[in-house]
Amino acid sequence: MKLVVATNNPHKVKEIAAILRGQNYEILSLKDFSNAPVVAEDGDTFEENAAKKATTIARYTRLLTLADDSGLEVDALNGEPGVKSARFAGENATDEDRNRKLLNLLKDVPETKRSARFKCAMALSNPQGDTDVVLGVCEGIIAFEPKGDTGFGYDPIFIVPRYRKTFAELGPAIKNRISHRAIALQKIKKLLQY
Ligand code: IMP
Repeated sequence: MKLVVATNNPHKVKEIAAILRGQNYEILSLKDFSNAPVVAEDGDTFEENAAKKATTIARYTRLLTLADDSGLEVDALNGEPGVKSARFAGENATDEDRNRKLLNLLKDVPETKRSARFKCAMALSNPQGDTDVVLGVCEGIIAFEPKGDTGFGYDPIFIVPRYRKTFAELGPAIKNRISHRAIALQKIKKLLQY
């Protein structure tokens, strides 16, 4: 069965395909639909943005569609960057720019106050407009410097306390078992069984 992942982010597609491996889905992404509508991610919550992306793309492709809206909430920054995680350092900034900006903002914050969490809202929509939204959360600590070279985004500065390593050091096998995206997808898998 075809399943569209409503994103242009190749890292997200790769993680979602790895987590859903063995489920007999032919995974497509927005790269397979060159004229797909661009969905503005202007909602106040991850759930709102994910649902909007999934319903718009399911209607356009006439296929079952999964959309991920995710980001990092840092307690010392009152939950920022949150839904603005992708645009935290401006439109044309790189992952390195965003990580540097975050580390600078936290330069005087001690380890005990560097708590943060990744959140991933995952929405599943069919072409008729039926939509389910689930949330996956992964708790962690912001590092003092980037470490590791796998993954993407904020992975090099997000430490998983149980391993005392960043997502970028842990690598895909562990990240794809414990991440916010993995937790959300476990919930989606249950919905797909019905
Ligand atoms: P969006 O969901 O496309 O709006 O963007 C989410 C942004 O949050 C990404 O561009 C990353 O900066 C960050 N993000 C989301 N999930 C992850 C992850 O698993 N690792 C690292 N950064 C992430």
